[in-house]
Amino acid sequence: MIPPGETIGILGGGQLGRMIVLAAANLGYRCHVYAPEADPIAADVCAAFTQGTFDDEAALAAFAEQCAVVTYEFENVAAGPLGAIAPHARLHPPARALEVAQDRVNEKSFVEALGGRPAPWAQVDSMDDLRAAIAKIGAPGILKTRRDGYDGKGQWRIMQAADADAIDLPQVPLIYEGFVTFEAEFSVILVRTSAGEVRFWDSAENVHKNGILDRSTVPAAPVILHQVDEARALAAKVADALEYVGVLTLEFFATANGPVFNEMAPRVHNSGHWSIEGALTSQFENHVRAICGLPLGSTALAARGVVMDNLIGDDAHDWPAILSDPANHLHLYGKAAVRPGRKMGHVTRLVL
Ligand code: AMP
Repeated sequence: MIPPGETIGILGGGQLGRMIVLAAANLGYRCHVYAPEADPIAADVCAAFTQGTFDDEAALAAFAEQCAVVTYEFENVAAGPLGAIAPHARLHPPARALEVAQDRVNEKSFVEALGGRPAPWAQVDSMDDLRAAIAKIGAPGILKTRRDGYDGKGQWRIMQAADADAIDLPQVPLIYEGFVTFEAEFSVILVRTSAGEVRFWDSAENVHKNGILDRSTVPAAPVILHQVDEARALAAKVADALEYVGVLTLEFFATANGPVFNEMAPRVHNSGHWSIEGALTSQFENHVRAICGLPLGSTALAARGVVMDNLIGDDAHDWPAILSDPANHLHLYGKAAVRPGRKMGHVTRLVL
């Protein structure tokens, strides 16, 4: 057990790290953020900050020496250099979870081996591969980069086979996925302790706009509620297989044939931000509790329902109007520059 007063290291300095820091501070921990940026938003609220790259093993080791446990808020960190942390501090979740989740081919193969069902997919490394993948899987489909994609970035929709000819194929490993006809999208968020105890939050129904999460609603529609048990069973298998410690997220499409796995994130997730006010214990607090070996808090709902809206780009300028409704819980992430498509904050409303 890592008692309050100790230091938690966090790799990555974005809003997820910032909200982990805030939850950890409430439990009496100090946080030390490690990120490549000079002035990340998580560093505004933490006790210590190191600017460093994720492949600088000497800097990672020096950082870990000052921490009792290290976690991450960002999955595009190469797993190899994180070996520098082990002699000094525990790493939760494990580096293996990063290796699986940061590559779409690895994550789909891993989940299939556990009985999960992703959309039909094929690896693409050349134009010939892409044509073969479209011939096998059909169109419409989506071509995605295997790594480093987020919020719909690094994705190309292919409506018909001829569309492939117009694509200037990037020189990175790719994957082609059949387009899933879904009725709704949802996520399963769980927390797992090192002893193997697992708790789930209610699954939110997620609506995306332009590939970015727009709204999460709890409870989800009945079509999702009927599929949650099967999706949870898969998520628990993934967590057990990885000997996972902390919060893990799996995203699904609810289809006429049951839940289809989309992707996983080895971390707290945007579709769980509602849990700050909407659950007895938030995803951020239970992540801290799990990685520090404390007893988990209840994940039960704190209201009859919850709606979380992301504030994307210019939406953040609406903060005076949002605050004029006393029922709104406003979270602004403190990002200096507003850019189109950038997550600037979120608003949560409880249905009491
Ligand atoms: P991703 O970054 O892969 O989660 O994609 C972002 C969003 O694009 C998803 O939440 C879906 O709304 C949509 N999307 C991604 N892949 C597919 C697919 N194979 N079929 C249908 N919609 C998809």
